[in-house]
Amino acid sequence: MAKISINLSTGNLEKAPESDVIVGIDLGTTNSLVAYMREGEAVAVADDSGKNTLVPSVVHFADSEQIIVGTEAKKYLLTDPQNTIYSVKRLMGKSYKDVAAAEQYLGYEVIDEDTDSLVKIRVRDRFYSPVELSAKILAELKKRIEATLGQSVSKAVITVPAYFNDAQRQATRDAGKIAGLDVLRIVNEPTAASLAYGIGLSQDESKTIAVYDLGGGTFDISILQIQGGIFEVLSTNGDTFLGGDDFDRAIIDFWLKENNIDPQILTENKALSQELRIAAEQAKKTLSTDNQYTERVGEWTCEITKAQFESLISSLINKTLDSCKQALNDAKLAVENIDTVIMVGGSTRVPLVKQTVSEFFKETVNDMLNPDEVVALGAAIQADILAGNNKDLLLIDITPLSLGIETMGGLMDTIIPRNTKVPAKAGRQYTTSIDGQKNLQVAVYQGERDLVSDNRKLGEFILRGIPPMPAGIPKIDIQFILDADGILTVRARELRSELEQSIQVKSAYGISEEEMARMLLDSIQNAESDMKIRALLEARNEANNIILSADKFLTQNTAILSEEEISETKKLTDMLRQSVEGQDKDAINVAMDNLNKYTTPLAHRAMDVNIGEAIKGKKL
Ligand code: ADP
Ligand code: MG
Repeated sequence: MAKISINLSTGNLEKAPESDVIVGIDLGTTNSLVAYMREGEAVAVADDSGKNTLVPSVVHFADSEQIIVGTEAKKYLLTDPQNTIYSVKRLMGKSYKDVAAAEQYLGYEVIDEDTDSLVKIRVRDRFYSPVELSAKILAELKKRIEATLGQSVSKAVITVPAYFNDAQRQATRDAGKIAGLDVLRIVNEPTAASLAYGIGLSQDESKTIAVYDLGGGTFDISILQIQGGIFEVLSTNGDTFLGGDDFDRAIIDFWLKENNIDPQILTENKALSQELRIAAEQAKKTLSTDNQYTERVGEWTCEITKAQFESLISSLINKTLDSCKQALNDAKLAVENIDTVIMVGGSTRVPLVKQTVSEFFKETVNDMLNPDEVVALGAAIQADILAGNNKDLLLIDITPLSLGIETMGGLMDTIIPRNTKVPAKAGRQYTTSIDGQKNLQVAVYQGERDLVSDNRKLGEFILRGIPPMPAGIPKIDIQFILDADGILTVRARELRSELEQSIQVKSAYGISEEEMARMLLDSIQNAESDMKIRALLEARNEANNIILSADKFLTQNTAILSEEEISETKKLTDMLRQSVEGQDKDAINVAMDNLNKYTTPLAHRAMDVNIGEAIKGKKL
């Protein structure tokens, strides 16, 4: 273990020039932005006009070569929904099963394979992961700060919701890497908001706070305990489908009713629908300061008063209070125990929201800072602390390089990401790839590259004597335990047979800081090509599993399939086999998608044969 928190004061593991800035990024569901410290103060970076700091989290594909991000991309949401991706944050680190229920809210195609593998988004004949799409947004932010500062920027702190799990945090890190950013820390959004208000900056401060975050499409409430510069999340709650967009929708419905318009017109006339949406959002924003809004849309007069608007949204706001009550309950606290309430998210500008929340918590809420910038501003402050510019804050030991194991195809599967505080413990479950497999090799690596061959091998062992079972059935739990001295214990256990094996390795042994710096630099420089190789290998692994399943399916179900169904399935399987030989992951994905679409109804027919069964879980 390197005590690298001290070295971070010079940027990272290498000596960087004084001016080397670490930026703070709020990668939001609706809007994203970047902030940095200018003369000791956190400021959000604006576009060329100098007015807009928010970059809508929308990516539009004019064709596969031409990609636009932000305000320009947002214009295509209604006119070209299939090629305009928004809300991608909702998909980060998720499998298709996780998001199946949410898909109806998205205008683009999320690939349905009904498996446990991570979701992909289909744009024409290309397949993108949520990580790649988020990377496009991050790259836009990087471009923006570089233009402002007139120098290149490569280090960042990125925020995520407090409830994000390991996979979602790792996905966010990966997105940063692909965008050419070294992600020094992933910070919770409520923690960042608190830092922006200066809460938690001094060692002797002890406080319990509530962070109320109402954005465009999501609501989060977090209860934090702050003590000695450490932020502990006591509880989180919220609604992943409640936000300012619902306020807009309520206004549109109101106007349709007032003007006696058939709501059907919204699906028929996209341009009009778009115009109404823009007017509704404008009305809502106007009513945050004025009492009345009037605008002509087409042949109609769209009017609404503040009182009318408030009666439309009061039940929605009350729903957020239910979440607040639940969060307090989970934290075993009463309203009286909350010292400070912080308002985050553009929708908290609505006066009725402030008033209702303030009444609920029985105190004035903190709303001095711009609510849609506050998270990014806090991230910039956190970045500044990491840069060593705030000497008062405690430095904690962190692991300088990621630790993980080799999975199928020579891929690195990170279990403890770099910059994790030590001591640390993390684990994951794996399974076998061959029927009756008795032994399983566990190879432990350190580094940031996607292929283990580019990383540093720390050790390996073989878990022997797994009882014979079909591929995919054994459950092998692998735990990484990293102690405060950097000693890593890797333990593998087959859960059905209680079979166990472990090794200990010194993760920092024999590695110099120069070597570490080089490994980090390599990973960023090769992020794009690494990601392509990873996507290809993953597609191949998945395809091979599906081929196996399809073959098995055919032999087991000859009786219930027609000649034509058998030959078509064989044909599609052969096409998939052929694509696996090639280098094009999109071609593999298309072939997989075709085979899946064709065989899904057949599989449903063969009730007891579940084609999904054999393709679950990662294979070692
Ligand atoms: P997210 O965190 O989900 O990315 P934001 O915090 O950027 O979202 O919030 C975006 C929402 O805030 C949108 O619904 C937007 O219409 C709303 N909003 C922005 N400004 C105002 C305002 N002045 N009054 C009311 N709502 C606003
Ligand atoms: Mg937000």
